[in-house]
Order: sequence, then C-alpha cells, then structure tokens
Amino acid sequence: MSARSPWYVANWKMNLTPSAARVWCEALRAGLDRLQEPVPELGVAPPLIALDTVRQALRGSGVVIGAQNCHAEASGAFTGEVSAEMLADAACRFVLVGHSERRHLFGENDEEVGRKAAAAVRAGIEPLICVGEKEEQREAGQTPEVLSRQLDRALEYLLDLRSADLTLAYEPVWAIGTGRVADASQIEEAHAILRGKLVEIAGEKTARTTRILYGGSVTPQNAEKLAPIEGVDGFLIGGASLDAARFLQVACPRARC
Ligand code: PEP
Repeated sequence: MSARSPWYVANWKMNLTPSAARVWCEALRAGLDRLQEPVPELGVAPPLIALDTVRQALRGSGVVIGAQNCHAEASGAFTGEVSAEMLADAACRFVLVGHSERRHLFGENDEEVGRKAAAAVRAGIEPLICVGEKEEQREAGQTPEVLSRQLDRALEYLLDLRSADLTLAYEPVWAIGTGRVADASQIEEAHAILRGKLVEIAGEKTARTTRILYGGSVTPQNAEKLAPIEGVDGFLIGGASLDAARFLQVACPRARC
C-alpha cells in the first residue's frame, strides 16, 4: 500500500466555455454530494478564461484548481502569456508543465519545461510535470533514456529539490487522446524508471512522497484496472474529464456518481 494518496486531475485542454464550465462544476458538486465513500483528491485545469468561474463554482468543495501552462518569467513583454505568479494570485494550486501537446504542437523543449517548473515553484504553486515517449522512441527501445532525460531537464532549474512540492505524470504520447492505453507492464516500468531517477536527483524522501500519475486514454471503463498498477498514484485525464460524471467515475469506479 502506497504512502501517497491518489490524485485525479482533469485537463480540459481547449474545451468548455465559461458557461459550460459552470454546468460542469454543478454536475461535479452534485456527484460529490451523492458519493457514499470518502471524497477523492481532485484537481481541475480549465482553460484560463474559465478559471475564475471554476474557482467560484467549486469554492468549498475541496477540489483544487490549476492551469494548463505558464510562462517561465514572472512578468514582461510576452503578449498572450500568463506567469506562474499570476496563476498563484488567481488561486491556482498547480500548473501542468511539459504536456505533450505543448512539447509537440507548440515546440516547447526540455529546457523551457525546466524553466517553467522552476517558475511555478518560485510562485508557490505545484508543477505537474508531464513526461512521456513517442511511439517511435518506444519501438526503438529508447523509453528509459527519453524519460530520464526529460525528468533531468525538468528538474534542472529547481534550486531546492528536496523541499519542492511537485507531481509527475507519465503520459506516453501515443496513448494521449488515441484510445490506446499503455499496458500494465509498460506503466509499471515507466513509473519505476521515474521513481528511480527521482531518488538519484532529489533523494529518497522526495522520491517516496512525490506522486506519479498515469495519463493516456483513461476512462471509467479502464480506470479500475489501471489504478492498482504498482507506482500509479492517480491519473491525468483529458477526454474523459470533459463530462463531470465520467471524471468522478474515474476517481471512484465503484461509486454510482
Ligand atoms: C491528457 O491530455 O493529458 C490526456 C491524458 O488526454 P486523454 O485522457 O484524452 O488521453
């Protein structure tokens, strides 16, 4: 039994308007009220435009809010960008960094991911650092080196690793939004690589307490099989999180939400 409590995080990506977000939050609250089991730890990362709506609608529910991205600088002439400081002031408790869509659609490199993770920690919010291999890298047997490199670079700018709160998400690129879920041995192996690497760079204690989520086509149908896999401390959920009831069912597969 893990000492880490599981965390379930909704990544809406560029979906749900502020009005739709309000409806989603009401449905989630209704589901939480009906739960007959302990409320799981939940997080939601809406688009920035819906952040304040979600903050107000989920006030007092215990669900934490976060953002999907931030800039590495605290302020400046970066039109269209938002800093970690701004997110902290808007009540964000976490921010995704290095999501594969940011890396592959927007060209973010490992160094930028590291600088953003450090900016989040400086601003007092938790970076949820996403790493994962592409399909061709897996086929070429490069998964361990890809994950190790991504994690090394993501933590490179964190000055006090031992006291930083952070979460990792293992998200194989080929499993995101494709309906293809990594199998148990692939997930177990990847999480063990990441945990081993954490021991090496951040020490035993940080490695023991840092949550490593799995992300990639998680649904209420497969969550029950994925949750007990060794080293999995919850999920980062994209598509299935757009419906509040399905999101809650991922966190509580046995509950009738
Ligand atoms: C994600 O966006 O992080 C993700 C895992 O998406 P999906 O659940 O849709 O695969």
